[in-house]
Order: sequence, then C-alpha cells, then structure tokens
Amino acid sequence: MKIDRIPVLSDNYIFLLYELENCTAAVVDPAVAKPVLKRLEELGLDLVAIFNTHHHSDHVGGNRELIKYFPNLCVYGGAEDRGRIPGQQVFLKQGDTVQFAGQTAQVFFVPGHTRAHIAYYFPPIRGEDRGNLFCGDTLFAGGCGRLFEGTPSQMVDSLGKLKALPDDTWVWCAHEYTLNNLKFALTVEGDNLHLQQRYESVKQDRAIKKPTVPSLLGMEKKTNPFLRWDAPSLQAVTKMQEPARVFGRLRGMKDMF
Ligand code: ZN
Ligand code: FE
Repeated sequence: MKIDRIPVLSDNYIFLLYELENCTAAVVDPAVAKPVLKRLEELGLDLVAIFNTHHHSDHVGGNRELIKYFPNLCVYGGAEDRGRIPGQQVFLKQGDTVQFAGQTAQVFFVPGHTRAHIAYYFPPIRGEDRGNLFCGDTLFAGGCGRLFEGTPSQMVDSLGKLKALPDDTWVWCAHEYTLNNLKFALTVEGDNLHLQQRYESVKQDRAIKKPTVPSLLGMEKKTNPFLRWDAPSLQAVTKMQEPARVFGRLRGMKDMF
C-alpha cells in the first residue's frame, strides 16, 4: 500500500492510499474532490473507498463529488456520525475492522474533538514495516484537536488508545499545525531536550515549506504535551495530578495561546 499526501485548503492534508498493481485507491478525509480526482487520473486509479474520521466540512467536503465520479465507492465513518457524513454507508465502532488492498485496519472510537470521531490503524504487515495511523483531528503532530463536542476525560481516554500503539507507528494527522503546536509545547515544557530539538528541525522544515506529517508516534510520546499527562514537569506546570485535569488545563492554555 502506498500513501500520498495531498495538501489542500490552508493547512489540511488528504491522504490517498493506493495499490498500482490492481489500480485501486482509497482516500482519507477528502476535504475537497478536485485534487483527489486529478491524482487518481494521473495514476490511473479507481477509487473504492472514502475513510472519514469525523463530520467536519474540511474532512468530508469532497465526498459528494467523489461519489458522483465513482458511484460504487463505499463511504466509511463513525457510527455516532450517522446523518452528518455525506453518503455514509458503513457505521463503524470501536474494535471494528475495514479492508483495503488486502490489509485490515483497526477502528478506534476516539471522541473528544467531536463526539463521533474515529481513527483507522493499519498494523505493519511484515516485521520490518511500520504501522499507519489516520487520526484526523484527534492527535496532531505536537498537539491535539480542540474539544468541540467532548470532555477532557473523553479525550484523554481517546489519546490513551492511540498512545498504546507502537512507537514506530506513522501518525498521519489531518492538519499542518506542527510548528505552532511545538511553540506552545515549549511554553509548558521548555527544558524537554527532545522537544527543543524537534522544534528546531520543524522550524527548518517549515522555512522551506516541507510537510511535517507524518510523524512517528514515539516522537509524539516524547514531545507532545497532550500525550504527557504523566510527566512530572507538566503536572507541576498545571498544578494538577489526575490525567484528565492535567490534560484539561493544558488544552485550556493552548486554546488561549
Ligand atoms: Zn475537525
Ligand atoms: Fe479539521
């Protein structure tokens, strides 16, 4: 399975999953249709699936037009998103699986950003491969999604599920927010050496407009404050101990940043 990253709108990424051998493709969170159609045409691919993570328009905005061009494709989304995702046919819950290109992805129910948000995880096929996590607006490189429809404790549970995956998992999040996320992270954990190094390297990447997605989950565990509710330094900064409270305080600070 190959993965292409298509930058759209101001800071969204659409991900195209495909296999050239049998000319099939699936798309994760098509905010818009045109650049996806263009890429499919260039590669001569048939679109068989849309994997949506949640109902926001910058994730489902291209659904209708893609269905028009590929009427047989299947639209997947969270069970709780029923009625909110255009063309949705499959209603997924925690523990469900989906198939693409002979691979099986596990579905995680990760409410918090929205009440219905899901993530798709393709485990490594062979020992040497890395797994791929498509997490929408739940976990970002260096940050996490805003809590529009969920509570801090829901989001901590959701991020905890993702944090339990192997360190060498590629994290394909839906926005290029990394530099700003790491600027915030430095304000709460400035003496974290891994974070300082990551910030410098992301700053260089963004100076030449190089994408910072995907990132490795192991790096997120070391530098992303929203996965680090157990870190004594963050417990000290937030003056909290309990994970949901540490997280909630950090999220509040980021909202004001
Ligand atoms: Zn969103
Ligand atoms: Fe979004």
